Amino acid sequence: MPAKTMDELVSLCKRRGFIFQGSEIYGGMQGAYDYGPLGIELKNNLKAAWWRSMVYERDDVEGLDAAIVQNKHVYKYSGHEDTFTDPMVDCHECKSRLRADHMKDIKVCDNCGSTNVTEPRDFNLMFKTNVGPMVNEDSYTYLRPETAQGIFTNFKNVVDSTSRTLPFGIAQIGKSFRNEITPRNFIFRVREFEQMELEFFCKPGEDEKWHEFWVGARKQWWLDQGLAEENIQFEYVTGDDLSHYSKSTVDILYKFPHGFEELEGVANRTDYDLGSHTKAQDEFDITAKVKKNEHSTAKLAIRDLEANKWEIPFCIEPSAGLDRGLLAVMTEAYTEEELPNGSTRTVLKFKPHLAPIKVAIMPLKKNKPEIVALAKELKNKLQKLGLGRILYENTGNVGKGYRRHDEVGTPICVTVDFDSIEKEGAPVTVRDRDTMEQIVVNAADLPAYVINYFINQD
Ligand code: ATP
Repeated sequence: MPAKTMDELVSLCKRRGFIFQGSEIYGGMQGAYDYGPLGIELKNNLKAAWWRSMVYERDDVEGLDAAIVQNKHVYKYSGHEDTFTDPMVDCHECKSRLRADHMKDIKVCDNCGSTNVTEPRDFNLMFKTNVGPMVNEDSYTYLRPETAQGIFTNFKNVVDSTSRTLPFGIAQIGKSFRNEITPRNFIFRVREFEQMELEFFCKPGEDEKWHEFWVGARKQWWLDQGLAEENIQFEYVTGDDLSHYSKSTVDILYKFPHGFEELEGVANRTDYDLGSHTKAQDEFDITAKVKKNEHSTAKLAIRDLEANKWEIPFCIEPSAGLDRGLLAVMTEAYTEEELPNGSTRTVLKFKPHLAPIKVAIMPLKKNKPEIVALAKELKNKLQKLGLGRILYENTGNVGKGYRRHDEVGTPICVTVDFDSIEKEGAPVTVRDRDTMEQIVVNAADLPAYVINYFINQD
C-alpha cells in the first residue's frame, strides 16, 4: 500500500540525502532548497532524460544555455516588467501576505480568520538585482523568471549558425527565480527552481496542430518517467488565468501528495515574444542603423523562401518544472510493502534510468583483502559503462545495505563473497530491488548483465 504524505517524502529526502532545507543552519530560508548527494543524481538523470528526448531523439531541435542575468530591456519588452504579477492580500491582524487567487475567500485571512484584510494588489514576482559597482536608478536588472527569454533573444543567432528552417525548436534547462508570495509544499512552489523549456517555432496557422502535438508528446514523456496515467490530468487554461503572452495553454497536472496541481504548462505563445522584441529594436540606436536593411540581424524573423518574405514564427512552449518533476517522480516511486515475514520495507521504485545509484557493490566481509579487491575491480569496470553512479560500499553489513538501497531506489545490489574468490568464474550475487530475487552471475558476465538490465527495463 503506497503511503505518500508530503511529510513522509520530506523526511526520507532529508534522512537519505536527497533534499535539505536551504540555509538550514541559520534557521532556513523560505522557498529555497538544497539538493544533496542523491538529489543531484536524480535531478541530473531527469534532466538527461528530458534532453535525450527533446534534443537527441529529434532532428529538429537545438540546445542552448543562455545567461541568467540579461539586459533589463529584455523583461521590459517581454511584458514581464508590467504584467508578471500575482494578486496579493495583506492581513492587518496577523501580518501575513496571501496570494488572493489561492484564498478560500478574499475577504477572510486564511491564516487567522480575520476580515481585516486589504484589497488584492498586483505584486511583481521578479527579483530585482543590481549590476556593476555603481548603484543608481539605471543599474538594475532582474533574475530571469523563465528561461524562455534567453531563447527568444538568441533566435537569430541559432537560425544563422544552424541554417534552420521552420518548424524547429530550441531547448534549454536552467534556473529561474520568482519571488513567490507564499512558497509552500516542499519543492513544489519555491523561489529558486529549474525549468526545462522548449520553444518550438512554426508557421502561423500551423500553431494549433503543433500545440496539440506537444501536449500529447509531453504527457507521454512523463509516463515514460514512471508516472501513472491515472495520476495525470489536463487542465485547459482560459480567460484571466492565461499568461500575458498566451493564446491558449494546456496545463499537465499531477496528483502530488497535496492534490492535483500543475507539473508542466504547454502554451501557444504565438508571435508575441519574437514580435515584441523585434518591434522594440526601433527604440535602440545601435539597431536602428541597420533596421532599414531588410536583413537586419535585429529582426527576430525567418525568411520564408517560397513567399520570399520575412516572417515572425509562432511558438509553442512546453515548460516543465524540474523540481516539480522530481517531486512527482519521488511521489510515484515511494512504496511501502509488506513482506511475507510480516515486516515492511520502503522502496523507491524509480525507473532504472532515473535511479540515483545504478548499482551498489558490497563486499560481504569488510576486511578480507581478496573480496575487497574484487569488489573494487567490479566497481571500476561497471563505472566505465557510463550508466551513472556505481557505488562501492564497504560497511560489512549486506542486509542493512539492501534495506538502505531499497529506500533510495538502487535497482541492483551486487555482493562479493567467499564463493567469488574461491570458485571458478568468480560468481557474485545480484539482487533485484523490485523482486528481491537473488541470482548468481560470473564476474566476467556482470557488465553485460548490467547493460542488458538497464536497456531492457526502460
Ligand atoms: P503556478 O500557476 O503553479 O504558479 P505557473 O503557471 O506560473 O505555475 P509557468 O509560468 O507555466 O508556471 O512555469 C512553467 C513551469 O515551471 C510550471 O509548470 C512549474 O513546473 C514550474 N514552476 C513555475 N513556478 C514555480 C515555482 N515557484 N516553483 C517550482 N516550480 C515552478
